Amino acid sequence: MPSSKTRIAVIGGGVAGLVVARHTITKLDTFSFTLFEQTDQIGGTWVYTDETNTDKHGLPVHSSMYKNLRTNLPREIMQIPDFPLENDEGPSFVHHTVIREYLRDYAKHFNLHSYIKLNTLVKLVEPETLPNGQTIWMITYKDLETKVETTKTFDAVVLCNGHYTVGHIPRIPGIESFPGGRIHSHQYRVPEVYARKTVCILGASWSGIDIAIEVSQYADKVYLSHNLPEPVDSEMSKNVEQRPGIQSIKGKKFIFRDGTTAEVDNFIYCTGYRFTYPFMSPKVQMRTDENHVEPIYKHLVHMNYPNLFVMGLPGIVIPFPMFHIQAQYILGILEARIKLPSTEQMYEEYETEKKTLLDQGIPLRHIIKLKERQWAYYDELAACANVPSLPPVIKKIYDHVNQMRELDFTTYKNYQYHIIDDENFVVCYSKPC
Ligand SMILES: Cc1cc2nc3c(=O)[nH]c(=O)nc-3n(C[C@H](O)[C@H](O)[C@H](O)COP(=O)(O)OP(=O)(O)OC[C@H]3O[C@@H](n4cnc5c(N)ncnc54)[C@H](O)[C@@H]3O)c2cc1C
Repeated sequence: MPSSKTRIAVIGGGVAGLVVARHTITKLDTFSFTLFEQTDQIGGTWVYTDETNTDKHGLPVHSSMYKNLRTNLPREIMQIPDFPLENDEGPSFVHHTVIREYLRDYAKHFNLHSYIKLNTLVKLVEPETLPNGQTIWMITYKDLETKVETTKTFDAVVLCNGHYTVGHIPRIPGIESFPGGRIHSHQYRVPEVYARKTVCILGASWSGIDIAIEVSQYADKVYLSHNLPEPVDSEMSKNVEQRPGIQSIKGKKFIFRDGTTAEVDNFIYCTGYRFTYPFMSPKVQMRTDENHVEPIYKHLVHMNYPNLFVMGLPGIVIPFPMFHIQAQYILGILEARIKLPSTEQMYEEYETEKKTLLDQGIPLRHIIKLKERQWAYYDELAACANVPSLPPVIKKIYDHVNQMRELDFTTYKNYQYHIIDDENFVVCYSKPC
């Protein structure tokens, strides 16, 4: 039976899901709303756990948070735009527990809890086409406490299940002969376990560098192996040595692409994550090759099912503010304030943009890394949704952070930023205690 209200289901109670909830429940005349969260608390990535493999329900551990992690964005630009993250003294790059508390405060402030089903795993999302051509969604979910499975119908589904849980593990010839401990950064928690060891870290993106800095304080030696064209330019500890990618492994011996070798005790893959939607019906034909999820319009709307949305796909962005804008864009579509182009037009626009980026030499797997393209993306979505975009000061701080980070990875998190107005900020060096 069609409902008088648009029934929205959100899968995942991390930041993305909470932000969709916060905006949806201000419009309960139009929408009814349910958020499904498989764990026993909200916060997603920001809920640290010592566990690394399975949780109390036997499900793969979701969070990839490690014990000492401080944010890689200052709180002044990381925060959700309508809910300030209070500015205490000290560096703007806060410990992850501050973010978890902030998200709890957010959920409490906007009264989100009564719309959230905790301990509830979504197992299947299945489209069904009605005689009038409209697609509705059958969601099958399991109460992990009672083990009862239920199927309910929704008019729109927003996927907020996160993109940083399933590690990407590249194939390395001879890896099976390596006798030492090996993990993906998803399972990394503390550096102390590497005391007096020789550790090889593969990958020099955010996690690779961050983990190399931590581990080098305990390990005898850290090899930071990567395929970047230039060495990472940073004042890392003297026991960190950069090497090219790994060509092969023979027992404890790692052979790098330049022919040099090293004897290694422990190995950490910091090689990124794979985007997965294990609950999605094959009928939907979502492709995720090279983390390029297709067919998705504006990195958000499924082109064949414009009532299916994927939050948080873009990388190298400021995620919380982006969610804030994406959520309002989705509601604009569902309220018919935003009129999407026809399916054919969406495909055409999408293919043209993809070709332009590929022609510029951007590999398929990097198309989703918006970097400098992020600002135009926010502006475009915000204009369509008729909501404010981000003020120029946000980009200015973001650029300053990147400059400081390029200068020195080991100190860029010690700065404290203050926003003065939409255009201006001040920054000072504030060594953490
Ligand atoms: C180690 C690390 C450090 C990071 N540091 C920063 C940082 O400093 N600053 C920053 O802005 N961003 C950072 N990020 C990016 C971070 O992922 C995003 O900021 C943001 O937290 C992503 O939120 P999300 O809601 O999309 O996903 P998540 O936080 O991953 O939440 C997804 C939720 O969906 C639930 N779920 C998944 N599948 C199901 C299912 N089938 N049924 C029910 N529930 C399900 C999960 O349990 C989880 O609660 C970091 C990420 C990682 C991994």
